[in-house]
Amino acid sequence: MYSYDYLIVGSGLFGAVFARQATDRGRRCLVIDRRNHAGGNVYCENISGINVHKYGAHIFHTSNREVWDYVNRFAEFNNYINSPVAIYGEELYNLPFNMNTFSKMWGIKTPAEAKEIIDRQIAEAGITAPKNLEEQAISLVGRDVYEKLIKGYTEKQWGRDCRELPAFIIKRLPLRFTYDNNYFNDRWQGIPIGGYNPIIEKLLEGSQVLLNTDYFDFIKEHPNIAEKTVFTGMLDEFFDYSLGYLQWRSVRFETEELPTDNYQGNAVVNYTSKEVPWTRIIEHKHFEFGQQPTTVISREYSAEWKPGTEPYYPINDERNETLAEKYRALAAKREDVIFGGRLGQYKYYDMDKVIAAALEAAKAELG
Ligand code: FAD
Ligand code: UDP
Repeated sequence: MYSYDYLIVGSGLFGAVFARQATDRGRRCLVIDRRNHAGGNVYCENISGINVHKYGAHIFHTSNREVWDYVNRFAEFNNYINSPVAIYGEELYNLPFNMNTFSKMWGIKTPAEAKEIIDRQIAEAGITAPKNLEEQAISLVGRDVYEKLIKGYTEKQWGRDCRELPAFIIKRLPLRFTYDNNYFNDRWQGIPIGGYNPIIEKLLEGSQVLLNTDYFDFIKEHPNIAEKTVFTGMLDEFFDYSLGYLQWRSVRFETEELPTDNYQGNAVVNYTSKEVPWTRIIEHKHFEFGQQPTTVISREYSAEWKPGTEPYYPINDERNETLAEKYRALAAKREDVIFGGRLGQYKYYDMDKVIAAALEAAKAELG
C-alpha cells in the first residue's frame, strides 16, 4: 500500500502542472522540493511591492492555444511586450535584430539597403552552409551585428567560443526587416498580473507539498511512499552521474534596491561587449508597469555550473547531447519514473514548452 500515487520531485512548472492534472483526476500527489519555496525558476520574491523574478526574467510567450488557455485559468496576463535594448560601449541598439537595429548600425532606412549590406558581409565571409553559431549569426545578420551584438554576449553567456557553439541557439531570436522591436514572434505574450507565485499556488492546490526536501535523502527514508515518481531534477544526478557529468551554465544574480523610481527605462538591457562582466540588467518593476517609489535591479553574471550551484541552461553541444542521449536511454528503462522539465530532460525549454510537455505526460499517464 502506497501513501501517494505520485511522488513529484520539483515544484517548478512541470511538476506543478502534472500535480494539477493528477489531483483533478483524484490521484494523491506528494510534491517535494529541495528549495525553501515552490515554483522552481518562475518564483517571484516581493521586494518593496515589486515582484522580483528571483531566478532571472521570465516573460511568458506562446503560440500554443491550449497552453495559453490553460495558464489563463490560473492568472490574468498583462499586455507586456518584451523589447530589450542592447548596450555596446557608448552605443545603444534595439533588439531583436530588426530595421531599428540596422538603421542605427548603418544609417540606412529601407529593408533593401539593410539586405544589401548583410548580403555583402555574408559574401565577404564566404559562408555557404553555416556550421556553428558564428557562421550562422554572420549569415543571418552580417559581420557588424555579429561583432557588436552577438559575439561578446554569447561568449559571456555560454563561456565558449562562438565557433564551438551550435547554430540553433541564435535561431531562437527573430530577425525582421520591419521596424518591430517585439522580441518574440509568438501569438500571445505577457506577465501574469501579481507575478507567477499565484499560478503555482493554484496548480499545487490539493497536493501535499514538502519544501527543503531533497529527493535523494527523502527516498532513502521513504522508499515506498508512492507508486510512481515524476522527476524534474537533473537527469544525470538521478543516475548518480554514473556515465559522467552533463554540463550546465549557471547564473549569479546580483540584486539591489535603488532609491530611484526608474533606473534604466526598460525591463531588459543587454550588455553585449566582452569588457562588461554581466550579460544583462533586469529592472523588475517594468514587467508590471510598476509605479513604486524605488526600483530593484538584477545584474546577471553567467558562470559554468559546479556541484552546489544552480543549473540553469543545458549546453546542447555535441559532447553533452551524446551523453544526454545515453542518460535518456537509461531513463526510458525506468517504468516507475517519468522524467520531465528542463533539468529532467536536459532541454533548453521555454515555459510554454514545459507546460505543453507536462500536459502531454499527464495525458499519457492519466488518460
Ligand atoms: P524548474 O523551474 O527548474 O524546477 C525544478 C525544481 O526541481 C526546482 O524547484 C528544484 O529546486 C527542484 N529540484 C531539483 N532537484 C531536486 C531534488 N533532487 N530534490 C528536490 N527537488 C529538486 N522561459 C520562458 O518561457 N520565458 C522566459 O523569459 C524565460 N527566462 C528564463 C530565464 C532564465 C535565467 C532561465 C534559467 C530560464 C528561463 N526560462 C524562460 C525557462 C523557464 O525557466 C523554464 O522553462 C521552466 O521554469 C522550467 O520548469 P521546470 O519545472 O522544468 O524546472
Ligand atoms: N544573444 C545575443 N545577443 C543578445 C541576446 C541574445 O547574442 O543581445 C544570443 C545569445 O547567444 C543567447 C541567444 O541569443 O544565448 C538566445 O537569447 P535569449 O534571449 O533567447 O536567451 P535566454 O532568454 O534563454 O537567456
